[in-house]
Amino acid sequence: MKTTASPKAPLPVQTPNQLEERSRRARTEPMSVLPLGDGLYEVESASDHTYLVDLGAGRCTCPDHIFRSVRCKHIRRVAIEITDGRTPPPGQLAVECQNADCHESVFVAEDDDNGIATNDEESGQPVYCETHTLWPGDTVVDRETGDRLTVVDISDLRADAVRIDAADCTVAEYGTNSEYDSDVPVVGVVYPHATVRPNGVVPNSLRVYVFPRTRLEKRD
Ligand SMILES: [Zn+2]
Ligand SMILES: [Zn+2]
Repeated sequence: MKTTASPKAPLPVQTPNQLEERSRRARTEPMSVLPLGDGLYEVESASDHTYLVDLGAGRCTCPDHIFRSVRCKHIRRVAIEITDGRTPPPGQLAVECQNADCHESVFVAEDDDNGIATNDEESGQPVYCETHTLWPGDTVVDRETGDRLTVVDISDLRADAVRIDAADCTVAEYGTNSEYDSDVPVVGVVYPHATVRPNGVVPNSLRVYVFPRTRLEKRD
């Protein structure tokens, strides 16, 4: 069999201008990036098409990549957004801060170490942005009563694992707490003003109360 050589000719190369153009469009075109996990990202382009980018493999489902084998604007966009901190790197996912009206994205590890069930938004630990992460001394509002409270302790224990002895039930079961997820951590709070009577401070007004984290909203 006679083998043939490919035609002796220069291969088409991308001109620097074409390369620059893809880089430029990767930045300037409105695109959104949805991290799917496992290094996969769904990119919605300006024309509302969605393409799947496999960042590790450097692949995209768009025609530019499939037919021209170029590092298309979608792959570039994912890389740019990761560098800029707009999109989580492989191994992390983005979830929304759970504080009311806060739509800040928080990057969390993709594995289950932090208890985040990525395929079930109804379960797992609530996630908060830096602004809405609780610290002792923070003021929070009880969503049930509107009371302003001062945080004294943030626990790792779940609401269904902490008992309120006086009520003979768990924090999760106590009153309207049952409206909230039972697997969220509990937070210890005090009412900001102790009640002082002529015979002294009312002990109960200094008590630490525990609430499921999601019942409390951090306010500025
Ligand atoms: Zn592409
Ligand atoms: Zn927030």
